[in-house]
Amino acid sequence: MKPLVLDGYEPGGQLSLTTMVENFPGFPDGILGPELIENMRKQAQRFGAEFRFGAVTAVNLSSSPFHLTVAKEEHECRALIVAAGASARMLGLEAEKHLLGRGVSTCATCDGYFFRDRDIVVIGGGDTAMEEATFLTKFARQVTIVHRRQDFRASRVMLDRAQANPKIHFMTPYVVEDVRDVTKQGVESVILRHADTGETVELKVEGVFVAIGHDPNTTVFRGQLDMNEQGYLRTHDGTKTNVDGVFAAGDVQDHVYRQAISAAGSGCMASIDAERFLAEHKE
Ligand code: NDP
Repeated sequence: MKPLVLDGYEPGGQLSLTTMVENFPGFPDGILGPELIENMRKQAQRFGAEFRFGAVTAVNLSSSPFHLTVAKEEHECRALIVAAGASARMLGLEAEKHLLGRGVSTCATCDGYFFRDRDIVVIGGGDTAMEEATFLTKFARQVTIVHRRQDFRASRVMLDRAQANPKIHFMTPYVVEDVRDVTKQGVESVILRHADTGETVELKVEGVFVAIGHDPNTTVFRGQLDMNEQGYLRTHDGTKTNVDGVFAAGDVQDHVYRQAISAAGSGCMASIDAERFLAEHKE
């Protein structure tokens, strides 16, 4: 086989934006996200995988070989694995970008451990925010959920669980205006503005978990691959999509587990499925 990896504008995806990864098996002392990506890349190259930087801008999956456009380059393939991942939604604050991995996180399972006995905030009002806040109480001293409305999008059961947790406090309706302090390269507080009165308050915290949802990177496949209302690809019989020869792996089809190891596991399944497909469809 002649595998080609089109690795987007952010090679490594969410792992490239994180610091220490503590839950990938085989690294008893943890490993930095970017280092883990680099190791995986070298390992794939050792077995002949080629890499191209740049995002796929158009695809044609209507007949085999499939066609993919990356900037001005055209690529053809007989089997395709879509592993384009999902991007965590961000608040859009300048400080949040600078402090990502330095107190600002988008993944409680990955980073919760670093906030033992600290005060933290979780931003969001959906199931992810409730789940992450509840999980974080295992480590944190106090968790404050900040949500921009009085009503929650979260399911009743998840909201009830969070409300019953003595370590969780709620601040609504508040919008995050700023995260401080970029000059100190760490989180010291958040500035919150009351959505109705406009009054601002400063809340001292050492961690900020942004839990306002994820967007799967599937726009380019719209109309060709089956997806749910949120854009996550639908798979069946392992990693198969609705198009014969196209497989999906990782966060692009999983909004439940979202871990590097679960994504890697489904990537392994997809490559086995692709290999079998190619063996069965020899020219
Ligand atoms: P949702 O889209 O359900 O919720 C996102 C939340 O973030 C909303 O409360 C929204 O506020 C808020 N938000 C969005 N953008 C901003 C912003 N710019 N600033 C401030 N707040 C913002 O995403 P989730 O990730 O929570 O859930 C996605 C799906 O996954 C859902 O179907 C959920 O049920 C499911 N899920 C299920 C779980 C489980 O069952 N264990 C666990 C986690 C997720 P507003 O409400 O005002 O729009």
